[in-house]
Amino acid sequence: AKSNGKARFEVFDNALHEETIKLLTMETEFRHALARQEFELHYQPIVDVNNGETISLEALLRWKHPTRGYIPPLEFIPLAEENGLIVDLGWWVLEEACRQLSLFQKRFPKQNPLSMSVNISAKQFSQADLSGKLAALLGQSDIIPGTLELEITESVIMDQGAAAIGRLEELKDLGVKLYVDDFGTGYSSLSYLHRFPIDILKIDRSFIREIDATGGHAEIVRAIVGLGRNLGMALIAEGVETEAQLAVIRTLGCQFAQGYLYSRPLPAADIEAYIATKG
Ligand code: C2E
Ligand code: CA
Ligand code: CA
Ligand code: CA
Repeated sequence: AKSNGKARFEVFDNALHEETIKLLTMETEFRHALARQEFELHYQPIVDVNNGETISLEALLRWKHPTRGYIPPLEFIPLAEENGLIVDLGWWVLEEACRQLSLFQKRFPKQNPLSMSVNISAKQFSQADLSGKLAALLGQSDIIPGTLELEITESVIMDQGAAAIGRLEELKDLGVKLYVDDFGTGYSSLSYLHRFPIDILKIDRSFIREIDATGGHAEIVRAIVGLGRNLGMALIAEGVETEAQLAVIRTLGCQFAQGYLYSRPLPAADIEAYIATKG
């Protein structure tokens, strides 16, 4: 039994060792990935549920690893947050999103111009010169004013408390629209929400997933829609996968939706084809 125990320990130890090596390799490769231009943005439509029109695109980051293929963001973003590389990466994302948005806007001139939303990490949101750098970036870009949107998670905003208000106001002054991402999952102080200059709440996917089942999710979504409306904010339902879910959110008065029902996040060329056929 004793030797058995030792053998088990060695197996465990080796596994741990392998994990460490994997992480270190990933970290080194990750540091080179920006220079080697291995990152890509994919785009997912945000749609008006009443007429099916694409009003905006969410830019979602992908790492196209030379040997391992596409690595999803949840496998490397936490690492990038930890080692601080998320800030450089975040600026690359913003630049690339503006470049691509300008191309989309020229290809699809619309009365309501297409916008694009970009996810902002906690580190980037708390960067002292965030609005200054963003102003410079917007100055160099030729996107239609008012069409860049930033998605900041509920928990990142709440973590900063009252300091977040000033930051958000600086961003608003640049003509940027602000989304609260994953709304309903953080520990929002609802008494605070009206003090934030927020344009749109994105209702977290976890509420939409079970919205057509019993268990109160539809009531929660109804309450969030009511709250948003009373505060003058628009609403997007995230992760809409079925016609049944779409029917419920439509009934509840949520105007915008995003999810696999419409489209998965796709490379620029494929999303152009989507907009060309679906509008
Ligand atoms: P998120 O911002 O909540 O993005 C939505 C995620 O839900 C995306 O996953 C999207 O592919 C997925 N999704 C969309 N519709 C559906 C659906 O109908 N069903 C299901 N099951 N999933 C759906 P993705 O692309 O893997 O991104 C995961 C997270 O990684 C994002 O969550 C965001 O937190 C982070 N992320 C992605 N790109 C960036 C970025 O450029 N910067 C930062 N800081 N974070 C990013
Ligand atoms: Ca998001
Ligand atoms: Ca989200
Ligand atoms: Ca999320």
